[in-house]
Amino acid sequence: VFVGLDLGSVAVKAVVVDRELRVAGVGLQPTGWQPRRAAEEALRTAWAAAGVDGAELRALGVTGYGRELIPDATVRATDITCQARGVHHLLPQARTVIDIGGQDSKVISLDEAGRAIDFALNDRCAAGTGRFLEVMARALHMTVAELGEAAAASRPAAISSTCTVFAETEVVGLLARGESPGAIAAGLCQAIAAQVLNLTARLQVVYPVALVGGVAYNQGVRRALSEQLGEEVLVPSHAQFTAALGAALLAADALQAGGPG
Ligand code: ADP
Repeated sequence: VFVGLDLGSVAVKAVVVDRELRVAGVGLQPTGWQPRRAAEEALRTAWAAAGVDGAELRALGVTGYGRELIPDATVRATDITCQARGVHHLLPQARTVIDIGGQDSKVISLDEAGRAIDFALNDRCAAGTGRFLEVMARALHMTVAELGEAAAASRPAAISSTCTVFAETEVVGLLARGESPGAIAAGLCQAIAAQVLNLTARLQVVYPVALVGGVAYNQGVRRALSEQLGEEVLVPSHAQFTAALGAALLAADALQAGGPG
C-alpha cells in the first residue's frame, strides 16, 4: 500500500491507498503543537480503517506546511502539486480546484491532464478561510458543522464586513437585533465564498470546479460558491484528504518510476 500525509496548519490528514490506487482508509488529527505525533496518530487511524499495518507500506508521500518534519518520505511535494494529483484522480473532469483549509485558501487551475498550471493563494487574512467560520460559529454559539447546516436551510442576511474582526462584531449586533442565527450563518457563507472568489480575479475559471479542504464539508459554503459561480461546484469523496491522497499517488508514481521496490 501507499501512504500520503498532509501536515496542514490545523489538521494532519493520513490516507492509505491500495494497489488499485483506491482510498482504503483515512485518519485525521488536530495538528496541535506536536505535528509529528499528530501525524503518527492520524496514520494509526488510517491503518486501522484500511485493515492493514505499517509492514505493508511501499512508499510514503508527504505534503503540507509540516512536510519537512517527516523523515523517510519517498516523495515530498507542495500542497498545489498534491491537490492537483488527488483531485484529478477522484474527479478527472475538474479544471479548477478551490481549496479552503483552516488557515488559508487557494484556487488552482488544472490542464486537461490534471497538472497544476496556475494558482492563487490567500494565507494573509483569516477571512476566506476556515478560521473565519470558526470565529463566527463561536459568536453564534454553534459548532462549525451546525453553522453549515443552519446556513443551508436559510436565506442569507446581509453581512457587510469583509474583515473577520469586524464581521464578528456585526454578527453580535445582528443577533441582538433579533436576526435569526440561520440567516446570519447563510450570510457568513456568502461572505466567505465572495472572499475566496476574489482569488480568481487573476485566474481564468474553467469548469467544472472542484471544492476541497475541510470547509468543503460545509453545505452553506458549497451552496454560496455554486450560486456565485453560477455553476454547481463538485465535492469529491474525502474532500479534506485530497492533498494527502495526491501525496500517496505521487509516492506510488515515484516507486513505479524507480522499478519494482
Ligand atoms: P488545513 O489543511 O489548513 O489544516 P483542512 O483542509 O484540514 O485545513 O480544513 C480544516 C478546516 O475545516 C477547519 O477550519 C474546520 O473548521 C473545517 N471543517 C472541518 N470539518 C468541517 C465540517 N464538518 N463542517 C464545516 N467545516 C469543517
